[in-house]
Amino acid sequence: MKRILVTGGAGFIGSHLCERLLKEGNDVICLDNYFTGSKDNIRHLIGNDHFELVRQDVIFPYFAEVDEIYNLACPASPPHYQYNPIKTIKTSVMGAINMLGLAKRTKAKILQASTSEVYGDPIIHPQVESYWGNVNPIGIRSCYDEGKRCAETLFMDYHRQNNVRIKIVRIFNTYGPRMNPNDGRVVSNFIVQALKNEDITIYGDGLQTRSFQYIDDLVEAMVRMMATSDDFTGPVNTGNPGEFTMLELAQKIIDLTGSKSKIIYMPLPGDDPKQRQPDITLAKEKLGWEPQIKLEEGLLKTIPYFEDVLSGKNPY
Ligand code: NAD
Ligand code: UDP
Repeated sequence: MKRILVTGGAGFIGSHLCERLLKEGNDVICLDNYFTGSKDNIRHLIGNDHFELVRQDVIFPYFAEVDEIYNLACPASPPHYQYNPIKTIKTSVMGAINMLGLAKRTKAKILQASTSEVYGDPIIHPQVESYWGNVNPIGIRSCYDEGKRCAETLFMDYHRQNNVRIKIVRIFNTYGPRMNPNDGRVVSNFIVQALKNEDITIYGDGLQTRSFQYIDDLVEAMVRMMATSDDFTGPVNTGNPGEFTMLELAQKIIDLTGSKSKIIYMPLPGDDPKQRQPDITLAKEKLGWEPQIKLEEGLLKTIPYFEDVLSGKNPY
């Protein structure tokens, strides 16, 4: 049995990961400051003898004896990470330093939840891991993008300088149950708007693209990445190559919910990337992984969760 620390474990992705790691027979410590996560996401795990909850901010050091660390603590939706941008960059950078220090002392393997945002507004399409990106260092998304880029640098330097066993996954847009309905990200916004028959808010002309990965596919990739041999550090992309415009996504969600919502257009936020699609050749080769769940199937698994949330039923 391994003892595994999941920072950001009460968030959307973290809660699914904690569940999976417990199912595999591990001891799991979930560390979270509940900035964007919630105890609701992990309430069903409380009471399990192998699950521990720690209220802690990753910008402060944390001491425990652990075998593996998944470092997810960081707000992920643009409205949330821009709410307190200085805190966001501190979370990424100081959080990485604290968790890498813990990994160094305990000789734990450590996996960083990095992001497709390290590619910024990409000029290379689809994005391959060797691409260095096109990131504005002084824009409104920079606190997140540059924080995550700096965290990758720290991971590589702890690896080169101190032989810390690191793993970096670059996660592309992921969705599924337990996304916060007020999160502000596109999939949750559109489903909530569609279910309430409210206007669907497209930012810009809606022709920008994203590639959406269902949560179960991501968790599988993360667990497989952690299990790879020490000589494979990544970064490795994890995402679903199916690429859609925001207009296509809106129409799909209207159709699947049978909504009466109309599409309206709102200003495009600054530095919003125009296109995004993962090249997953490396993940296929090194993890023997590729996503199994197509967008429509994943949306059909996600919509009932939001229906429950909106009708006041317990969705968990
Ligand atoms: P989320 O907001 O649901 O989860 C983040 C969790 O981290 C929350 O529980 C939050 O309370 C916690 N947290 C934030 N700041 C913290 C701090 N200073 N100390 C301790 N805990 C803190 O978002 P998510 O979608 O689950 O994202 C999880 C991770 O995956 C993030 O690091 C994010 O950057 C990364 N990621 C997510 C996506 C995606 O599409 N969901 C894409 C790329 C990368
Ligand atoms: N978006 C949108 N309407 C919304 C929320 C987001 O059109 O209500 C757009 C947003 O401008 C971006 C895309 O959807 O082009 C994905 O946004 P999200 O915040 O989900 O993720 P990110 O931009 O970080 O990929």
